[in-house]
Amino acid sequence: MGMTIRGNARISRHHAVNHQSEQVNDAILHEIAHALAGPKAGHGSEWKAIAL
Ligand SMILES: [Zn+2]
Repeated sequence: MGMTIRGNARISRHHAVNHQSEQVNDAILHEIAHALAGPKAGHGSEWKAIAL
C-alpha cells in the first residue's frame, strides 16, 4: 500500500498495553483504523466505524 502511518510506535505501545488479552485478527486494519480515527477515538464508535 505504501502508506506511512505517523505515530506507529505509539500505536504499537497502545496495543501492548490494551490488547494483551485481546486477539487482534485484523491487526493491520486495526492500526489503520487507529491512524484514521485518531488517538482520542480509542476503540469507540468512530474507530469501530472504520475498523469493522
Ligand atoms: Zn487498538
